[in-house]
Amino acid sequence: MDQNCVFCRIIAGQSPSEMVYEDDQVVAFLDLNPAAPIHVLIVPRDHIPSINHITSDQEALIGHLFTTAKQLADSNGIAKSGYRLIMNSGPDALQTVFHIHLHLLGGGQMRFPMG
Ligand code: AMP
Ligand code: ZN
Repeated sequence: MDQNCVFCRIIAGQSPSEMVYEDDQVVAFLDLNPAAPIHVLIVPRDHIPSINHITSDQEALIGHLFTTAKQLADSNGIAKSGYRLIMNSGPDALQTVFHIHLHLLGGGQMRFPMG
């Protein structure tokens, strides 16, 4: 746990959040500034600062982020209407919290192209 990391503090119960899912590997909570009608962040309990820091022994954990996102899309009723999963890395992608997280966005028409 990194005391300077807002997501580590949320996972430890030291900062408030609207938690929607928890298991032994990941948590999911509502984004503070939603960019879509449904905007959930799926976050590993381990403090991994960015995609650049993911190691091969964490591949199952990264896969679990996606299966959790899929289940949350289903439970939020957007599995068929569609949704977008985003993970930003580094300054050009506007990563602002340096503890990896998968954005689940849905509940309305997305815009394209991205970038
Ligand atoms: P990123 O730019 O990909 O690093 O995304 C960080 C996301 O975390 C943004 O969408 C923020 O709105 C969200 N965020 C920051 N602090 C909190 C918080 N305390 N609780 C929930 N979401 C947060
Ligand atoms: Zn952290």
